[in-house]
Amino acid sequence: MNYLRSYRNIQPLIVFYTYILLFTLISFPSCAQNSDFAELRQHMVRTQIETRGISDPKVLKAFQKVERHRFVLPEYLPKAYEDYPLPIDEGQTISQPYIVAFMTESLDLKPSDKILEIGTGSGYQAAILAEICDSVFTIEIFPKLGEKASNIFSELGYKNIFSKIGDGYKGWPENAPFDAIIVTCSPSHIPQPLKEQLAEGGRMIIPIGSYPSQSLVLLEKQKGKIKQKKILPVRFVPMIDDKGKKY
Ligand code: SAH
Repeated sequence: MNYLRSYRNIQPLIVFYTYILLFTLISFPSCAQNSDFAELRQHMVRTQIETRGISDPKVLKAFQKVERHRFVLPEYLPKAYEDYPLPIDEGQTISQPYIVAFMTESLDLKPSDKILEIGTGSGYQAAILAEICDSVFTIEIFPKLGEKASNIFSELGYKNIFSKIGDGYKGWPENAPFDAIIVTCSPSHIPQPLKEQLAEGGRMIIPIGSYPSQSLVLLEKQKGKIKQKKILPVRFVPMIDDKGKKY
């Protein structure tokens, strides 16, 4: 009888401590993982990006902030901050962090800029651009990728990224001209619609050529004329049309 009474007295305490224990067990591993990711991200910026010469503070700040692990497939989470590209759905890839940084810096972006991206893919590059610029318009040809990226943009609270599913070869004339255009898939030549949609004084970075000999080309529109120069050998997935044919 006495034993039962004393159990009743401490029962609320047992329930309380069980809840505390369960809460700790459930929440602690994810806290630990997030702080691990934050550390890996700062390490990535120092060892892969800054040491290779990226110095624009706006670009570095964006890389410190954007959580690359939110954009990779779950099986690649432990590799989210490594120095190479990773597979995403539909046989596509999220680019190596340094290449994303190099292309971003080469556009010499200003906070007031309106950007067009061709090849949304995971959405990581678009999120980096959205941290730096006024607005980002991004086009993806595979609906599954475009929809997934658009959901991540909403989850992360980006109100300045506008995405659509379509063929980026044609650009997005309704929102042109763009201060900068970034193309993350490789056509054999520079799409004429993209040249036309570049604003006066605007810049475009685009990988040209077919695997394995592609070059990153930087273009600038001055007084209506396009000047271009090859700046780096690269490897990107091909730009395709809506039937899967390579441009
Ligand atoms: N910027 C992306 C990189 C994705 S790889 C990122 O940060 O993850 C290039 C992407 O271009 C692929 O997702 C591919 O499906 C897409 N793509 C290929 N051809 C395209 C086209 N014509 N229009 C739009 N996207 C295209």
